Amino acid sequence: MIIIFLGAPGSGKGTQAKQLSDARSWPQLSTGDMFREHISTKSDLGMKAKSFMDKGELVPDSVVVDMVAVRVKNPDCKNGFILDGFPRTTPQAEALDLQLKGMSRAVDRVVLFEIENEELVRRLTGRRTCPKCGSVFHLVSKKPQVEDLCDSCGHKGLKQRDDDRADVVHNRLDVYRKQTAPLIGYYQKQGKLRSISADQDFDAVFRDIIEATS
Ligand code: AMP
Repeated sequence: MIIIFLGAPGSGKGTQAKQLSDARSWPQLSTGDMFREHISTKSDLGMKAKSFMDKGELVPDSVVVDMVAVRVKNPDCKNGFILDGFPRTTPQAEALDLQLKGMSRAVDRVVLFEIENEELVRRLTGRRTCPKCGSVFHLVSKKPQVEDLCDSCGHKGLKQRDDDRADVVHNRLDVYRKQTAPLIGYYQKQGKLRSISADQDFDAVFRDIIEATS
């Protein structure tokens, strides 16, 4: 099954995609994570993406589309995959449809994560990530057991993502509303959209995702 997680930054797509990926053995294809990996190895693509990401802008469509086009051809995508953070514009969605058609495949389901703006700002600005293993915490709602220590790998020094700073967060939410939200209509027209409330506890959101993708 090919599933898209659609929703604003901070709506919980990434953590839920990881859970679904573990449950169903479908890889999680997060374009944000792919860019962060490129940045950590200082590749040309990473350096190009960073200049956009630091401002909360989208990386140009052609760069993202080419990167995903290579990734979905990987044999691990054979039985299905979860797209987390892609597509984010109508041209990206059209390019994806075209590519999948060429592979005699198609998107099966799009899960829309619905949540209020205020809650998104709270979640994003309080988010802290372990730079070593990628575990995600929150200063208020998901504190590590020992301050500044990662519960999973014990690394000291949890970091705030550069683009989770308050000034950048507001731009990312604006970009979502203007450039990504039109995809709701795009997938509604295709009859593939299922909306869930992302403002519930983790297990309740996951139950709704299972129902929406069964
Ligand atoms: P994320 O981790 O999904 O919030 O993505 C972090 C940043 O990576 C975004 O703010 C964009 O700058 C960039 N990015 C990730 N996915 C895409 C995409 N599909 N199109 C354009 N830019 C993207």
